[in-house]
Amino acid sequence: MIEFTPAYARMSSEQLRERASALRELMRACRLCPRNCGVDRLSGELGACGVGADPIVSSYGPHLGEEAPLVGRRGSGTIFLTHCNLKCIFCQNYDISHLGRGRPMTLDEVARMMLELQESGCHNINWVTPTHQVPMLIEATRIALEQGLRLPIVYNCGGYESLDVLRLLDGIVDIYMPDAKYGDNSAGEQLSGVADYWDRCREALAEMHRQVGDLQTDADGIAARGLLVRHLVLPEEMAKTAAVMGFLASLSLDTYVNVMAQYRPQHRARQATFAREVSAIARPITTAEFHRAVQDAVEAGLHRLDQRRASL
Ligand code: SF4
Repeated sequence: MIEFTPAYARMSSEQLRERASALRELMRACRLCPRNCGVDRLSGELGACGVGADPIVSSYGPHLGEEAPLVGRRGSGTIFLTHCNLKCIFCQNYDISHLGRGRPMTLDEVARMMLELQESGCHNINWVTPTHQVPMLIEATRIALEQGLRLPIVYNCGGYESLDVLRLLDGIVDIYMPDAKYGDNSAGEQLSGVADYWDRCREALAEMHRQVGDLQTDADGIAARGLLVRHLVLPEEMAKTAAVMGFLASLSLDTYVNVMAQYRPQHRARQATFAREVSAIARPITTAEFHRAVQDAVEAGLHRLDQRRASL
């Protein structure tokens, strides 16, 4: 029996419809993310993310590989959205985020997916890479709410977010799970194709924390509300981990952080031409580099660390 009442279920259907509509308006000269492409997605134009006005989904299902507070006993209900607003050269989901593997869905189909994930016992609905499709997701949530959806929403994003969009998600999203990929702008420009990653990421994380606070779990350790941050450690400190941890500590020393060790060169990071330009990215991290990153977090004063060492 589900006792938890997610934030969006405390809103009326009309309020959710208004939020979805306001978000959809941002697609008319698209500024759903800080790229601010300005294309009219409602008329079929495409910007850098490559998605128009309809949702495109790659896959969905219970996921047991996410962070423990999301997975619990029955899994996190992931929905992998196709394409991405970032173009990370080492993306491990390249076929989905860059090549666009997936198929267009109706809003009713997306709502049905969420309800299926709930019926299968998942603890939450985990939107993976939602930024460029969020108006459609909110409208699908409204439809699913009317049919009984009661799981918290996890907004699982790359950390390159628009403040205007996040403000429209206030009171809808219970759990934010952004990446904090790099602690300076130049790494974002070199590795993800945007010049202001760290500036926008800091603003976004501060707004997310303002809305939902530190991660809270229920009596079984399952995430109910709050902020979880992921940071993928890169070779030769390319991710500027110390700066990231310092910022997260400034938000709150109770910030929950997953320091991830699983970096492997993928996609362009494996290509010889690119590897010559950014040679450090062409190898996995070392054990010493991972330990240094964890130490950066500890020295910053953070103590809720989810450390993924297994793959080293
Ligand atoms: S969501 Fe897509 S089209 Fe809109 S600003 Fe971002 S990258 Fe451009």
